[in-house]
Amino acid sequence: MGQILGVVIEHEQGLTKPVSLEVINAARKLADPISGKVVVFYLCPEAGEQTELFLQNGADEVRLLQHHDLNIYIHENYSFALAQELEKSPVDYLLLLATNNGKELSAVLSARLGVGVATDCISLSIAGDGDIEAVRPVSAGKALSTVRFSGKKPYILTLRPNVFRQTETPVPRAGEVFQQDIQLPELSHQAQQLVKKVGSQLDITEARIVVSGGLGMQGPENFELLEQLAKALGGAVGASRPVVDNGWREYSNQVGQTGKTVSPDLYIACGISGAVQHLAGMSSSRCIVAINSDPHAPIFSVADYGIVGDATKVVPALTREFKRALAS
Ligand SMILES: Cc1cc2nc3c(=O)[nH]c(=O)nc-3n(C[C@H](O)[C@H](O)[C@H](O)COP(=O)(O)OP(=O)(O)OC[C@H]3O[C@@H](n4cnc5c(N)ncnc54)[C@H](O)[C@@H]3O)c2cc1C
Repeated sequence: MGQILGVVIEHEQGLTKPVSLEVINAARKLADPISGKVVVFYLCPEAGEQTELFLQNGADEVRLLQHHDLNIYIHENYSFALAQELEKSPVDYLLLLATNNGKELSAVLSARLGVGVATDCISLSIAGDGDIEAVRPVSAGKALSTVRFSGKKPYILTLRPNVFRQTETPVPRAGEVFQQDIQLPELSHQAQQLVKKVGSQLDITEARIVVSGGLGMQGPENFELLEQLAKALGGAVGASRPVVDNGWREYSNQVGQTGKTVSPDLYIACGISGAVQHLAGMSSSRCIVAINSDPHAPIFSVADYGIVGDATKVVPALTREFKRALAS
C-alpha cells in the first residue's frame, strides 16, 4: 500500500480557513504518483458541511474528532487529540499549515510523539524511493535546504500558506468519513485566558493581500489609513519591526526575520525602507508595491511597482481609487 498522508485542517469557529485546502491539494499531488491516501483530520465541536468540502478537494478519508471545546484552536487540546488518534490510525506524513497555530502544533506534536518536523516548506516532491523530499528556506531566506526524514513516524511538515495554491480544478473523491466523540483533558485557566485574547483578525500569513507600514507612516494614528486600504482590498495589515517595538502595532503584525513570513499575491510596503531583515519576511510575495518618499530606498530594488511620495497622502488616494474601481 502507498504512503498515508494526514492533513490537519485549521478553522475559525467552524469555518475552514481557505489556505487549509491548499494543504489537501499538496497532499493529493504527492499521493497520486505513489498510490497514497490522503486522510484529513478535522477537530471540531460537531460535524458540518465541511466534510463534503474536504472530499471535493481531494481527501480519501475524513476523520472528525469531536468535542465542544474544539470550536477554537488550543494546542493542549489539539495535540492531545491528534497524538491519541495517530496512535490508532498511523500516518506516514502529517501536513499542517505554517501559520502560528500550525507551527506551534507541529512543534508540540513533534515533542509529544518524538518525531521529526520540517517547518515552513515551500516545495514538496516525491524522491526516487517514494519518500517525500521537502525544500525550506533557511538563514532568513538566504539559502534553501532540502530535507529527507528517517526514524519514527509520522514525519511532520508545515507548509507555507499561499504557496501550494490549487491550479487545476480538484477531482472530488467518494471518500469515507469517520466521526467520533473524544475526551479532552481539563483546560488550564491560563490557556482559557490566552484564547480569549486571540482576536478573529485575518492572520497576515494567510492573507492574499498585505498592506504593511513602517516608520515612514510617522505615527500609530496613520495606521488607520492602512486599515482602510486593507479593508477595501480584503487584506490584512502588517508592520516593520520598529513599528512593533514602538508599540504602534502588535507583534502578531510584524513581518520579517524575527516576525512572520508572508507570501501574499500583493504586498504593499508603505514607509518601509527595505532592510534585509524585513525582506526576509516578504520577498516571496507575488507582487510588491512600495510607497516611499525616498527614491533611493532599498525597498524599490525588490518592488514590482514603486510610488515615490508621502505614504500618508498616497495611501488614502489609493484607497479611494481601489474602492471606485472595485465598485464598478
Ligand atoms: C536581528 C535583527 C532582526 C530584525 N528583524 C526584523 C524584522 O523581523 N522585521 C523588520 O521589519 N525589521 C527587522 N529588523 C530591523 C531592520 O534592520 C530595520 O531596522 C527595519 O526593518 C526598518 O524598519 P522601517 O523600514 O519601518 O524603518 P526605517 O528603516 O527607518 O525606514 C523608514 C522609511 O520610511 C520612509 N519614509 C519616511 N517618511 C515617509 C513618508 N512620509 N512617506 C513614505 N515614506 C516615508 C523613509 O524614506 C524610509 O525609507 C531586524 C534587525 C535585526 C538586527
